[in-house]
Amino acid sequence: MTTRINGERLLRDLYELRKIGEYKTGVHRPTYSPEDVQSRHWLAARLSAAGLDPEIDGIGNVLGRARGEGPKLLLGSHVETQPHAGWLDGALGVLYGLEVARTLGGGIDVAAWADEEGHFGSFIGSRSFCGMLTDTEIDTLHNREGTALRDALAQAGFADRPRAMVDPARYRGYMEAHIEQGAELEDTGKRIGIVTAIVGSHRFRILFEGVQNHAGTTRMSIRKDAGVALVNLAHAIYQRFPAVVGPRTVWTTGRITLDPGAASIVPGRAEMVFQFRDTDPALLAKLDGELETLVADANRGPCTVTIAERGQSTPQSMDAGFQDALERAAELHAPSLHVRMPSGAGHDAQILAERMKSAMLFVPSIGGISHHYAEDTKDEDIVLGCQVFADAAAEIIANGTNVG
Ligand SMILES: [Zn+2]
Repeated sequence: MTTRINGERLLRDLYELRKIGEYKTGVHRPTYSPEDVQSRHWLAARLSAAGLDPEIDGIGNVLGRARGEGPKLLLGSHVETQPHAGWLDGALGVLYGLEVARTLGGGIDVAAWADEEGHFGSFIGSRSFCGMLTDTEIDTLHNREGTALRDALAQAGFADRPRAMVDPARYRGYMEAHIEQGAELEDTGKRIGIVTAIVGSHRFRILFEGVQNHAGTTRMSIRKDAGVALVNLAHAIYQRFPAVVGPRTVWTTGRITLDPGAASIVPGRAEMVFQFRDTDPALLAKLDGELETLVADANRGPCTVTIAERGQSTPQSMDAGFQDALERAAELHAPSLHVRMPSGAGHDAQILAERMKSAMLFVPSIGGISHHYAEDTKDEDIVLGCQVFADAAAEIIANGTNVG
């Protein structure tokens, strides 16, 4: 089945949305800022014009529901941005949803999930929709400026609205299109990425305790230097991990602090923030074990080393049948220019996957740049991606029994 999307109409909408909060060649639309709220109302009006019933709910999710009977496919992403960031991160997937809804003329619900970019919390919009966000958690969240989520919702005019909850029986599943935000597609000359799984991350705060002392008078042999203990562990990780990780595992020491951090003081305390990511839960568990072993080894030195805090997200596999539908559409419109790949970044699809079959499509990011105002994708890639997305959506809606 081929259903022609209107590429010019799609680009026109993307350019119009880009004007709301325009910053250089990008966009500044933090969650619940006046520009973000304006973009949500703009989208609701667009959904209405497309014949969908629009709603902005109590967490700021924008939902456009298709009228009529029959199974629906939910398409979405987000409209808020990182500070002074790009114009396509999120907006692309939402407006693909709108364009596919207009093209297919039924069977498509469209969503813009609130705060995927994490200004207030972790995936609060999609988690709210999936029944995974409590009012107690909403009470506790605030952004970096200290604004409480409750106050931001009130300011935005969303506080008194009910929160929309998913009805899994309504949906065949969820699909999200997104810019790749990396350079793999561009570097390999591909134009479409079909996401196999979204990585999970394990995150740690590791504390080192030694003894703070004078850098001139404390002999090396009696020092308990927390900074040295930290550097040694970091080095041990980078020595050990390559032997046990998978081909796509990534690991990062994102922050190191020495306390008190002065030139003439042996650090008494140190802290390192460390994470690793992969799509394989068994491998993530194995790396947990490796890290435990390295921390135990580090404790044989003069300092005490403890893992002070852990956080983690679970990897999510994308639905195999949906991946096949995307691949068939990609092969039709871009023969051999598509590839299956994991997503190294988190997306709302990993939350929706807890409730329904989910899949993701990537289009190339020029130079692999994202979370920066220079973020961009070629017009022809934007249009191609939407066409592939539309064909896959049409197949899933029309022929659900053969999919999945
Ligand atoms: Zn995004």
